Amino acid sequence: MLLAHNNTKIQIACQQYICNEFELNSFKTVIKFVFRSQNNTEKECCKYCGNNEVEVHDNYTTELIDMPIWVGIRQFISVTFHKYKCLSCGKVFNEDICFKDPDARITTRAADWAQSLLKHGLCISSVSEITGINWKALNLIHKRVMDSALESRARYLKAIGYKPQYLAVDEFAIHKGQKYATCVMDLETGEVLWVGKGRATADFRKFFEEYDMDYLSEVKAFAMDMNASYNKLVEEYMPDVEIVYDRYHMQAQFGKEVLGVVRLEEARRHKDRAEDIKELYDYETEPELKRRQKQNYKEERKKYSMLKSSRWSILINGDKLPEQKRSALDKILEEHNDLAVCYAMKEELCRLFDIRDPEEARIAWTAWFEAAKESGISALVRFANLKEKRLEGLISHALHPISTGKLEGLNNKIKVAKRIGYGYRDDEYFFTLVRYMTIPSNYVLMPTR
Ligand SMILES: [Zn+2]
Repeated sequence: MLLAHNNTKIQIACQQYICNEFELNSFKTVIKFVFRSQNNTEKECCKYCGNNEVEVHDNYTTELIDMPIWVGIRQFISVTFHKYKCLSCGKVFNEDICFKDPDARITTRAADWAQSLLKHGLCISSVSEITGINWKALNLIHKRVMDSALESRARYLKAIGYKPQYLAVDEFAIHKGQKYATCVMDLETGEVLWVGKGRATADFRKFFEEYDMDYLSEVKAFAMDMNASYNKLVEEYMPDVEIVYDRYHMQAQFGKEVLGVVRLEEARRHKDRAEDIKELYDYETEPELKRRQKQNYKEERKKYSMLKSSRWSILINGDKLPEQKRSALDKILEEHNDLAVCYAMKEELCRLFDIRDPEEARIAWTAWFEAAKESGISALVRFANLKEKRLEGLISHALHPISTGKLEGLNNKIKVAKRIGYGYRDDEYFFTLVRYMTIPSNYVLMPTR
């Protein structure tokens, strides 16, 4: 078709709508196809009472965004449709426009186009720029795509009789740590089952109230951080499910609250000693003594800075430490008894999570807590007293070696989700997006109609 030829004739029909004219603006940037309804009232029935006697009450015109035929030319479809009035009940209703999207003033073709761009991971703002469709409509379209993919995934899982056995719950930050959400994952499929706003107990309670508990009737174990009160709700709503405390949260907490605290205490001791020595040698007049004190001062300062810089070496798994760092660490541990004790307790803690026999685990964990409490190291004693209350959930890790690690991996997907839906205020949309991103890709790219 030669555009803008004054004698170009077109004839397009879509059911009762006929188009034989188009308008092109003088810059050739916008084209509008004009469709008019040719329907007569014979086949129309009242939408409300079903009566088949209706009359054309009025004509309306609406403009729909369409997918363009030519690159760089925005395309619209102007549709003039009838408004009918029922001769029986008197109600007025619109004639159907078969090619209009049900939720937005765009054509179904344009909706498909936007959907395919969104499915391939383009962000809302880019799709809006390309298609000319506003954000609100795009979010609606996207939500529809996601809901239908999630529904068909759920239908499939139900059809094959699948039921989750291992779950994990954790919180994650939505807006730079200001806003939190709680997330429940099926650990076998890696799919997020539920996302809820907030991270308080009341927020997590919604999961048990909203979610289909029948689908979760075969759950054996639930992995969680022991610091949140997730366990209380699981005990309340799923009394037969074993609670498993997450090893990574526990190890991280031990690193921060025991190793970190003891290391800094030891470091501070060297710093104080160095300052004391400095004071002495400033007033010392005997050259040999002065030299020796200066030497001592340097030693203490060196030990101080070694401890200050050893954070990573102490936290990391001993086997993964490079040779040079290893010998530096050994030297530090040799000279600092408390730190050496805590370090050995850390290595043992990691080992306890590798035990697979529940009886062996019970004995080993009990021994670990006893040793910790007898150490006399206040940070370690405090930690042991607090965690010992969670003994059962630590032992159950032997039988169900699950963790919330897979949920941590979700953080990257959440970053991508933020990029796609950035600026969108509706949590419902964002949470659907997070769930949608964890279902298999064949559901993500499936046709929606
Ligand atoms: Zn009627």
